[in-house]
Amino acid sequence: MVLTIVALLIGARLAAQLGLNALNASAVRRGSREPPPAVAAVMDGPTYARAVAYTRAKLRLGSIEEVGEAAVLAAVIFSGALPGLYALFHEWMPQAAWSGACYLLATGALLSVPSLPFDWWSQFHLEARFGFNQGGFRLWLMDKAKGLVLMLGIGFPVLWGLLGLVRRTGGTWWLWGFALLFGFQLVMMVLYPKLILPWFNKLTPLADGDLRTQLLALADRTGFRARTIQIMDGSKRSAHSNAFFTGFGRFRRIVLYDTLVAQLTPGELAAVLAHEIGHYKRGHVPQMLALAAGLQFGGFALVAWLARSAWFNAAFGFPAGDLAPTFLLFGLLGGLVMFWFSPLLNLVSRRHEYEADAFARQAVGEAAPVVNALRKLAQKNLSNLTPHPLYSGFYYSHPTVAEREQALAGVD
Ligand SMILES: [Zn+2]
Repeated sequence: MVLTIVALLIGARLAAQLGLNALNASAVRRGSREPPPAVAAVMDGPTYARAVAYTRAKLRLGSIEEVGEAAVLAAVIFSGALPGLYALFHEWMPQAAWSGACYLLATGALLSVPSLPFDWWSQFHLEARFGFNQGGFRLWLMDKAKGLVLMLGIGFPVLWGLLGLVRRTGGTWWLWGFALLFGFQLVMMVLYPKLILPWFNKLTPLADGDLRTQLLALADRTGFRARTIQIMDGSKRSAHSNAFFTGFGRFRRIVLYDTLVAQLTPGELAAVLAHEIGHYKRGHVPQMLALAAGLQFGGFALVAWLARSAWFNAAFGFPAGDLAPTFLLFGLLGGLVMFWFSPLLNLVSRRHEYEADAFARQAVGEAAPVVNALRKLAQKNLSNLTPHPLYSGFYYSHPTVAEREQALAGVD
C-alpha cells in the first residue's frame, strides 16, 4: 500500500515534469516562428534564435535527467538496497547516532553520483556550445571534491547531533532538533560569505573610483549604509552574470559578479544594486527565513510522527523505531510531495522580485536603468523570453522580463 503510493507519486511527478517541459518547448517553438513584439526590444534576431536554441537544449537535457532521477529513485526504493546497506553499517558501528550519520552521508554521496554525468554534460557540452562555460575540467572536479568535503565536514556533526538528541531528550527530540538545525542555519548565513564562498570564488571589494562612489552614494541614500560592495570572480566558471544578497543585520553583504560589472553601465549597476537593497529594505530576508522555519518545523513534526509509526519504516524494509532510516526516507520522498508546492514558494519569490524592482525604480528615480539592466541581463544570459505561462508559473522564481517591464511601467 505505502509502496504503491510512492510509485504513484514518482510517476505523477515525472509526468508533470515531462508535460511542463513539452508545453514549454512548444511555446518556445511558437515564439520563434512569430516573435511577440516585446522580443525586439530585448534581443536582435540572431541573439533571439540562439536563446531559443539554448532553451530547447536545456529542456531536452532536463527531461532526460528527470527520467534518470525517477529511475534511480524507484530503483533504490524498490530494490531493498537501502535497508541492506543500513544493516551493514549497523554491524560495523553499533553506536546508533554514529552509524546512522555515517549511513545517511554515505547514501547521500552514493545517490548524488548518477547526477554527475548530467552535470558534466551540462557544463562542457551544453553551456560550452553557447559560449557560457569558462572553467576547465580540473576546476569542475575540484568543485565537486570541495562539495564532498563540505558535505562530510558540516553534514556529519549536524546529523550526528540530530540523531543523538533522541537519547538525551526523548519524545520532544524533534523540537530540539528543529531549534538546532534552524540555529545552525542562522550561523551559516553569517559564515557562508566569510568562509565557504571564498573557498570557491575570490571576492574583492569594489575598487575606488567613480563606480564605487556612485554605488555607495546610492546605498547611503537608501539607508543601507554598505561599507563595501564585493565583486566575485564568477567569470572563472561561467559567462552568466548575476548579483545577490547574503547574510543579515551587521553581516549583510551585496555581491556583484565580475561578469555583471563588465556588461552593465554604472547607471544600470546602480539599478541592480538598488534592487538587491530593495530585498533587504522590504524585509524579504526575515520573511523567507520565517517561511523556511515554518516548513522545517512541519518537516520535523512529520519525521517524528513517521518515526513513531511502526508501519512507515517497515514498509520500506527498515527496522521500526530507528530514526536514521526515517530521515533518509523523508529526504528521498519529501521532494515528491514538495514538488507540488514549489509553485506557491515561487509565487512568494516573484512577489518579492516585483517589490524589489519597484524599490529600485524609486531609488534611482526612473524606470529606464532598471529596464535596461533587465533587458541586458536577459540578452547576455540568453533567457527564454516566451516561456509557457504554466511552466513559468510552476518553476520561475523571477517574473519574465516582459512581466517585470510591465510592472515597472505601472509604478508611479
Ligand atoms: Zn531579486
